[in-house]
Parts: sequence; structure tokens; C-alpha cells
Amino acid sequence: MLVFILNAGSSSLKYQLMNPISKEVLATGLCERIGIDGILKHEFGDNKLTLEVSMPTHKEAIELVLKTLIESEGKVINSIDDIDAIGHRAVHGGEEFASSVMVTPKVIETMKKLIPLAPLHNPANIMGMEICQELMPGKPNVAVFDTAFHQTMPDYAYMYALPYEQYTKHGIRKYGFHGTSHYFVSNEARGMLDKKHNTRIIVCHLGNGSSVSAVLNGKCIDTSMGLTPVQGLMMGTRAGDVGAGAISYMMSQEKLTIDQALDIMNKKSGILGISGKSSDLREVLQGMQDGDDRCRLAVEMVAYNIKKYVGAYVAALDGVDALCFTGGIGENSSLIREIVCAGLDGMGLIIDPTKNNKRSGKARDIATNSSAARIFVIPTNEEYVIANDTYKIVSGLEK
Ligand code: AMP
Repeated sequence: MLVFILNAGSSSLKYQLMNPISKEVLATGLCERIGIDGILKHEFGDNKLTLEVSMPTHKEAIELVLKTLIESEGKVINSIDDIDAIGHRAVHGGEEFASSVMVTPKVIETMKKLIPLAPLHNPANIMGMEICQELMPGKPNVAVFDTAFHQTMPDYAYMYALPYEQYTKHGIRKYGFHGTSHYFVSNEARGMLDKKHNTRIIVCHLGNGSSVSAVLNGKCIDTSMGLTPVQGLMMGTRAGDVGAGAISYMMSQEKLTIDQALDIMNKKSGILGISGKSSDLREVLQGMQDGDDRCRLAVEMVAYNIKKYVGAYVAALDGVDALCFTGGIGENSSLIREIVCAGLDGMGLIIDPTKNNKRSGKARDIATNSSAARIFVIPTNEEYVIANDTYKIVSGLEK
């Protein structure tokens, strides 16, 4: 069984070819600058291939990827027939999709209705589905939604305290994102716990985009992102939680339109906005070490924001059995983990500095033996969730 996993964005796309049963990854890659010029970065085994080829549209990009998989230096399969199914990362499933689904005309029609909720992402996702249907006719396509895992949140957690009609008329509520990662990591954590019932797990997915979720018995009960991914934690370039009054005041002082304000909150804020240096935490950590005070402030704000959500979710879960760190920052930055966990002994979370500083690409426990709750570092694997959901749906194991 081979699944072609596609994550189509507005000017780029990521792909992987994976066997969901053995978890073997045959190839992985990225097309960038679609519609501008075009670069394909393709990896297979220990080999890397970079091609600069014109990609005027996503169709040419996907055609090139498929050609690279079966021909040329990057070849990993003999023909497109070796691909059994396609799994698509889809960003916004609204309230319509609480799990992954086979892509049908009705699913695409529903996703089109959800475009106002994700104007940048859903059109690209739909385009990826339609192009795969055209280039690989007859092969099943499955959509795996970023929002689906969070659909189990209770109404009192997902509602905003705006007039109720804003929800009934426009669907304005919290949806949450990074669902495949929160699902994967919380599920792995459940397997690592001795306890099998009443499991209370907090997942910190910390990367360029970051979110925290509270997971009770495998079901999400709260998450930090909202109607869109701009809410919650401070991120690489996104502001996270900022009071509505601060935004409207900034707009009036700077004479900004809504689009300009959104551009600032999504692309010029967060770690980049505070440090003035970079959206990349590694560079900002280096800046802090070199004595840059705004880099110090950015790092402290990042860690403080995460810690506040952890405390809130311990309360939401009536306690905690495991706190999990994942994503580029969560998996790699021992300093952020250390600051987040400092002083949480009263909540049963005690980090072991030696275990925290040890590097490993594997899932591990970094809490002291005497810590009442576990602290896990778990590498996320969103592609595996997409491939596995696709396999289960295509083979009829899941309807
Ligand atoms: P992701 O979006 O999951 O790929 O995560 C990207 C973020 O992880 C960037 O802010 C990187 O700076 C950060 N990151 C990656 N490696 C490290 C590291 N060793 N220490 C601190 N941050 C890191």
C-alpha cells in the first residue's frame, strides 16, 4: 500500500510517498515558488535532488513531482499505478467534518462553502484534490482536516462570548488547527502512560505555527487556536492572543484597513515583531545569547505564553497525567521546555534537567522519577496520520 500525501498551499506544495503499514517513507519533497518560477526539492533515502523548473501553476508542479517519482534520478516507483491512494492535508473542515473523508463532489462542494473561513488555505487544498483526480483518474482521494480532531470540544469551550447570532449566522466560534499533530502526539502519549483510563494530556505543538490542546481520554476538550490560526500562542510571525481593543486602536492610530491589520497580525508580529530580528527561534536564541534585549524579551514571552496555557489546561482537565512537547521548538529547544516547566511542581510536573538536555529524535520522558505526571518529548508525524487515515478509509476499515 502506497499513499501519496499532498499538502497544497497557495504558492508551494509538500508531498510524501509513504507506506502506512510499514511506515516506510519512499520520498519526500517540496515545490516552491509556484506561479513565480519554480523549485523542486526532492529527497529519497539519503539522496537529495534540486530542480529549477518552470511551474506556472500547481498542475505543472504536481505533474513534475509525479514524473520525478517514476523517472529521472529521483525515481522510487515504476509507474503511477504503484500509488494506491492520495491523502490530502485539508485545513478547514468547519463543523461539517469531524473526521477524515473520501473526497467526493459533495465534499469538494462543502469545502468550497467553507472558503470564507480559510480563504488562503482551502482553495489551494481543493485545487490539489482536483488536480490529483485529473492526473491520477480513478484513484481514491481522502481529505484529512486540521480542524477535525478539535470537533469534540464542548460548546462552552469553543464559543466566543459574542452575540449568539454571530455563531448561528456565520459559524463564528473556535475551531482549532494542527489537529493531526495533536491527535498523533496525544495518542502516542496515551500509549506511553501506565494509566489507560481518565487520561489527561496536554500537547504543546510548538513550531513556526504553535498551539496547545487539552485532551481527555483521547478527545480534545480545548485548544488555543480559534476561528483562524492567528489566536492563542505567540508564534513565528503571528501575534496570538491580543485584545480586540488593542487591534482597533492600532487600526485607528495607523489608519489601517482590516486587511492591513490582519497582515500585521499574521506576518509581522510574534517572534519576528518583538525581536525585530527573525521569526526563527534559533536565530532569536542566538541574539539573546549575544545580549540583544528584544531577543531576550521574545524568548521570555514565548515561554510565558505557553506556560499560561499549560496552567489553564491543567485546570480544564482537573489535573494532568502528561505534558507533551512537539514541533521544531518543542522537540529541540530544551531551554523553552525548561522555562515552561519551571515552578510547576505544585501541578505534579517536575522536569529532570539531565533528561531534558539529552538530544534524541525519539519519543522520551523528561520528567524526574518522582514527578507525579509525565513530561514527554514526542516527535510529531502528521504525514503518518494522513497516510493511515487514507489507508483505513480506502480499505474500508473506517467509514
Ligand atoms: P517547525 O515549524 O515545526 O518546523 O518549527 C520551526 C521552529 O523550530 C523555528 O522557530 C526554529 O527556529 C525552531 N527550532 C528548530 N530547531 C531548534 C533548536 N535546536 N532550538 C530552538 N529552536 C529550534
